Amino acid sequence: MKTVGIPRGLFYYYYYPLWKTFFAGLGARVVVSPVTNRRIVDDGILTAVDEACLPVKVYYGHVKELCRQGVDFIFAPRLVSVEQRCYICPKFMGIPDMLRAQVPGLPPLIDIKIDVTRGERDLKRNMYQVGALFGCTRKAVDDAYRAGAEEMKRFHSIARSGHPLNDAIELWEKGNRHTGYPACSPATGTGVAGGSQETAAGCSASLTVGVLGHGYSVYDPVISMDLVKRLREMGCKVVTPEMLDPQEVENQASTLPKRMFWSLGKKMIGSGLWMEQEASIDGVIYLACFGCGPDSLVGEIVERRVSHTPFMLLTVDEHTGEAGIVTRLEAFCDMITRRRRLA
Ligand code: SF4
Repeated sequence: MKTVGIPRGLFYYYYYPLWKTFFAGLGARVVVSPVTNRRIVDDGILTAVDEACLPVKVYYGHVKELCRQGVDFIFAPRLVSVEQRCYICPKFMGIPDMLRAQVPGLPPLIDIKIDVTRGERDLKRNMYQVGALFGCTRKAVDDAYRAGAEEMKRFHSIARSGHPLNDAIELWEKGNRHTGYPACSPATGTGVAGGSQETAAGCSASLTVGVLGHGYSVYDPVISMDLVKRLREMGCKVVTPEMLDPQEVENQASTLPKRMFWSLGKKMIGSGLWMEQEASIDGVIYLACFGCGPDSLVGEIVERRVSHTPFMLLTVDEHTGEAGIVTRLEAFCDMITRRRRLA
């Protein structure tokens, strides 16, 4: 049985259930690199070009980890677009080329182009190419893809029930089908998903904080310095874009005078505007990556638009210190607690 390595970085957090189910359906064994640790980060920093953002450097580290594990293939798609009229950051398009140029001893890459703006036929043609690597018929490829799409629905319903994506992936892997918590809805004011959220001490959280940022930053424990976990330990409920109703997020994003054409940027803006209107959200934190072009624009728009709810922009890179992040989080939580008391 051939093994396919999936690096635990970038769009892993958004699409892992689809990819894993798809490759398993083709008869492959899927291997995922370990949760990010210091060695992976350092490896990535040493290998990638200096100009790359931290999530891309970390992705390099995960690829090198898979190289050490001796997988037959590494899945590193060339992501261009995952929804109509919207695009992914250009760095994703160049990932396979950058890896080939800079990572020695790389196994063959499965680097199909994913560009939904080119239509379903183009996407399927690329899928069939992958199927051919494993000797699968077109029907087997179609079935595997359909099964992956079904798993994605389950994964999304787990996330929408109040679980950050990394937890949702874990629950999905364990076969957890629990979807018993209501999705967010500004109309009902029940707003905050996360009936499952508790502080480390097990008591009910008193503050509700919205956390915005690219999933591969927010849910990576090293890049984000465990932001979500730390907030929970401080007694906060955390709401992330993936816990919200996608249609509500889309509606809010469409109120901008000019359409945002980056998929993740649109999601951040729509979620930020939703959080601004939701009375149960006490504060909003935007986690940005130093050197990220989209963040420099999207973070600015969100900061200007979220004008009535306390807002904090946290910018991280490989030099960011844990103590600094903790101090800022504590100060932010103190500030919104005082503000609430005064109100
Ligand atoms: S959107 Fe920003 S953080 Fe994400 S890959 Fe592009 S430059 Fe890096």
